[in-house]
Amino acid sequence: MKMQTVLVRFILFLGAFSLGNNITKAQGGDQILDGIGETDMVARYLFDGDIRDWSRNNLHAKFHGKEIEFVKDDRFGKVLSLPGDNAHFITLPVETLIDLESLSISGWVYLRSDQRGQHFFDFGQDANKHFFVAPVGTHTHDGFQASVTANKSDKKGIVSASIPTNKWTHLAVVIDIPSKSMSTYVDGKPTGETKDISSELADVFSTQSIEKNQLYIGKSWQSDAPYLNALLHDFRIYRVPLSRNQVAGIYNNSWGVAVDVSVNVKEAKDDLPQFTLTHAQLYNAYLIDVADIEVETELGHLPRLPAYVKGVYRDEMAGPKVRVLWPSPIDNSAVLSAGRYSITGRVPGTDLKPKAIVIIKGDGQTTTPNSTLTTFSLDQISLETDTHDDETKFMENRDKFITTLAKTDPNSFLYMFRNAFGQEQPEGAKPLGVWDSQDTKLRGHATGHYLTAIAQAYASTGYDNELQDSFAEKMTYMVNILYDLAQLSGKPKTPGSAYVSDPTAVPHGPDKSDYDSDLSEKGIRTDYWNWGEGFISAYPPDQFIMLEKGATYGGQLNQVWAPYYTLHKILAGLIDIYEVSGNQKALDVAVGMSDWVYARLAQLPSDTLIKVWNTYIAGEFGGMNETMAHLYRITGESNYLKAAQLFDNIDMFFGDADRTHGLAKNVDTFRGLHANQHIPQIVGSIEMYHVSNLPEYYKVADNFWYKAVHDYMYSIGGVAGARTPANAECFISQPATLYENGFSAGGQNETCATYNMLKLTSNLFLFDQRAELMDYYERGLYNHILASVAEDSPANTYHVPLRPGSSKQFSNPNMTGFTCCNGTAIESSTKLQNSIYFKSKDDQALYVNLYVPSTLNWTERQVTVEQATSFPKEDHTRLTIKGSGKFDLNVRVPGWATKGFFVMINGKEQKLVSTPGSYLKISREWKDGDIIELKMPFQFHLDPVMDQQNLASLFYGPILLAAQESEARKEWRKVILDANDISKSIKGNPKKLHFTIGDAVFKPFYDTYGRHSVYLDVTLK
Ligand SMILES: [Zn+2]
Repeated sequence: MKMQTVLVRFILFLGAFSLGNNITKAQGGDQILDGIGETDMVARYLFDGDIRDWSRNNLHAKFHGKEIEFVKDDRFGKVLSLPGDNAHFITLPVETLIDLESLSISGWVYLRSDQRGQHFFDFGQDANKHFFVAPVGTHTHDGFQASVTANKSDKKGIVSASIPTNKWTHLAVVIDIPSKSMSTYVDGKPTGETKDISSELADVFSTQSIEKNQLYIGKSWQSDAPYLNALLHDFRIYRVPLSRNQVAGIYNNSWGVAVDVSVNVKEAKDDLPQFTLTHAQLYNAYLIDVADIEVETELGHLPRLPAYVKGVYRDEMAGPKVRVLWPSPIDNSAVLSAGRYSITGRVPGTDLKPKAIVIIKGDGQTTTPNSTLTTFSLDQISLETDTHDDETKFMENRDKFITTLAKTDPNSFLYMFRNAFGQEQPEGAKPLGVWDSQDTKLRGHATGHYLTAIAQAYASTGYDNELQDSFAEKMTYMVNILYDLAQLSGKPKTPGSAYVSDPTAVPHGPDKSDYDSDLSEKGIRTDYWNWGEGFISAYPPDQFIMLEKGATYGGQLNQVWAPYYTLHKILAGLIDIYEVSGNQKALDVAVGMSDWVYARLAQLPSDTLIKVWNTYIAGEFGGMNETMAHLYRITGESNYLKAAQLFDNIDMFFGDADRTHGLAKNVDTFRGLHANQHIPQIVGSIEMYHVSNLPEYYKVADNFWYKAVHDYMYSIGGVAGARTPANAECFISQPATLYENGFSAGGQNETCATYNMLKLTSNLFLFDQRAELMDYYERGLYNHILASVAEDSPANTYHVPLRPGSSKQFSNPNMTGFTCCNGTAIESSTKLQNSIYFKSKDDQALYVNLYVPSTLNWTERQVTVEQATSFPKEDHTRLTIKGSGKFDLNVRVPGWATKGFFVMINGKEQKLVSTPGSYLKISREWKDGDIIELKMPFQFHLDPVMDQQNLASLFYGPILLAAQESEARKEWRKVILDANDISKSIKGNPKKLHFTIGDAVFKPFYDTYGRHSVYLDVTLK
């Protein structure tokens, strides 16, 4: 290890020059389109020469008529012209309007006729179920009109002055389902509002048979209405109710001036109910005092201040520890010399100001733990039925995924790879949709997830030989084809023909003047002989090269999506197959492409790399650093370690190019950044520590985890969903301000992000056995990952929204079209058993982390552990040891187990001292048939939002209970609970985990499929 350490330090030093990026600056590169996160955008048609969807969803429009016409326009350049006769209009794909929570539409129109009855758009099923805008009136009403009709008797409309002809006008209409309102805007200014519109968009658009919906632009459902005679520009559809600010922002930004992102950085729009900030809420209303604390820190490192501090309550109330909000500096200037200083915190709603005395130790010595634990392989742990012989949620979800995965055709996942290399498709091969369709720049990402999923499914299905064989076959087939394609790269097509083997010398495509991201059937380059040796991807090398040259994220041909993100999935999948099956070709493909990557990146100056990795989405590289470090661990080839370091996110890890602070010194450098772009980089950091022993990498990961969980987490375990910046995929702009800056209308809790948080958490636990890590793991696993899958299929969530009366949206039931989260889900649900048990590397200790019915085959010790339980429908579990020997049994005493933790061995109660939030070590010489029974009584407890204490989630033990709602809500559900014992206010059946508070019904969030309230407005009395 010594030599490697020296080497890595040298590389670190080389990278330490120039470019002082300010950490509070947002990521560069079209971060947020007009201040609105792009997951809020469904489609955008610029109409500047084609009618393609400019968003990443590829919902390209279709033209109906003789010939499509674009004309020159002084204001917008090239625009679409609809002549107003009977044969010219546009339709949008039917998928455009499914699974929408709310709906906003905006666009520019230049009317050339004032004839009544022209429709800007008309979306719906027929003339009685539709949503339209008529700019100069219909046959019944004069004026600019927006109307939503769920049936003949449920019709709501807004009428204002007709829009002028022969002039560009910006129109917007917003349907806000939680508010049950519709609003119209002309040139960014509100012109009308109607209330009490239909309570669901599903009342207007069919969700059962979506082909019934027709989405017309320029044509009406009314058969006698005239066609639109107008010029059109920039038609957009959003899945969120745009705020007044946002509509104004879109309008203002289109005046050709530099993009104004101020709508994004200004105060969040007050679209959540407001509470008095000086009013002490929940337990804080009973608080008299909060203790001051004293903490030590190392020179240069900001102290880790405890999120919870002991409080004193009046009337001898036994309240919980008090959440204290501490300031979060953006650099480490406070701790640059030894000594002591004090920090003042605050307690929301009170004027209590607890103090933290910080003692700065001057030796600057850093100690970081070694990894002493290791995981079991997937085939060593199997999921079992519960003690009533019922399938657990873990088994149900696993089987939904495994059965559907078994039915997939590998050729679908190879389709775009063959397409990129200009190869014939086998008969019957069908491409995937969504983010793997022909011209989607992320194509191939699902293939990467698929490689990992089939590897894990293969390792996990020892219980069914036929199933296991089918996954073995899929792995071999996938790898063989990818290997054959990779062999073609950078070698002559025919003997003696020209080729380019050097990855750094890849020319642009033949017949092209530059690199581009054109993946269309007509435009894609397939000259694989010029791509450099080892290249493999589902698209040509251009996106990688364009990114180096500063390309940003977007739909234009000179823009990219996230080439290294996609590549990470593919390489990780190949390595996973190599690890579960020993398939050497899989490793060879990964090695070949990693060499290609290293060759290209090693030639770039470090300031270029810093800029690239800070580019929003385009520079998203998943866990390339993790995979490169992993490959180094497998091969011992030092270039992969150097390659891993080229992916260091210098600004986030080390603060700036001079490496003065950053997460390595406990400075929060990730506020406001894209969550899932960065969490996998942190997973990579812990892997870098694993292979390099450099303590800063451990610090980065450990400090990040603590901050993410305490300052950014929603109660289900997710960490993304900002209202400021207005992007559902981002961390909030300032730590510990979830209510002030979070709960984005576009959703929260991107499921990928939680998957990666869990991965980071279990990896950290291998180094440091803090029970709080596995407490978080349990929370995220039960309340987000298990809760992210549909009732009857493996369809799964992207965001999991937690605003009042939200509902989960599930997609990809047949595994035919994947978003990032659909891809991650096939990984999550094929390894649900992987963190139940860990062991020490020397096989002297076993860790029982989770209470899930399962069997562990500890083959290294010839010991089997059977865990029988109905947890969480019971509060106890039984471990039976088969085999014998001396080892430490470490069982997790969960943080929520505040009513005690009881241990019986072979029927005899053990007098063992345990504290909630720790591991209890039981050391003895175990005998065959020994039975350990653990009991940890559940109780109800509240988990409040850190800066708005009355808003809290209700837990029973580890299980989040969600109020079942019948419709969307604008207000948080109010409940009153007994101040001394909240359980007195709750009735129900713990065995079913069904409860009531008043007339509200509560179920586990993982069993909730309709509308829900996960956060409640709680009053204690
Ligand atoms: Zn995702």
